[in-house]
Amino acid sequence: MSLHVAPEVGQPDLAAAELAAGQFLRALGISTESESLRDTPRRMAKAYAELFSPRPFDLTTFPNDEGYDELVLARSIPLRSVCEHHLLPFVGVAHVGYLPGSRILGLSKLARVVEHFACRPQVQERLTKQVADWLHAQLQPKGVGVVIAAEHTCMTLRGVQAVGSSTVTSTLLGTLRSDARSRQEFFALTGINP
Ligand SMILES: [Zn+2]
Repeated sequence: MSLHVAPEVGQPDLAAAELAAGQFLRALGISTESESLRDTPRRMAKAYAELFSPRPFDLTTFPNDEGYDELVLARSIPLRSVCEHHLLPFVGVAHVGYLPGSRILGLSKLARVVEHFACRPQVQERLTKQVADWLHAQLQPKGVGVVIAAEHTCMTLRGVQAVGSSTVTSTLLGTLRSDARSRQEFFALTGINP
């Protein structure tokens, strides 16, 4: 079984974004006259468009013929997203696991699911829950666990300037939520001590 997963955002209007980026910079007192800054508004528009454009992918699932019923965990999936409050990046890792039901999926797809929800203006709490809820709905596993640890540049580069601090969020569903032993096993494998 295969499901095509496409971005939920429309095509960006790069020309309008470039114009707005130029106005934004000038409003901040930054001149775009010099040779090195002349193309900055265009580059800004392109960079943000890229951050908000997840690659489409096919979610292929396979029957769990062997009846595998232990935890499947993809650890330290690189994560980059953009905080929707400041439009500054947050960067970290996601650990995504599930307890298979009647179907399993290709391991690389867990990373693509993370990317799908990360490539949009986000808050980390919602991102964590969206990845878990989506896998739960699509795969109908016995349980799902998602842990995200990320550094928010809106916290570390400005504001409180909490350099090096990382924010950890988790969502557990199904058996991973209800069964203490599964929960402990999941957190132990992710290296997180709740
Ligand atoms: Zn922020």
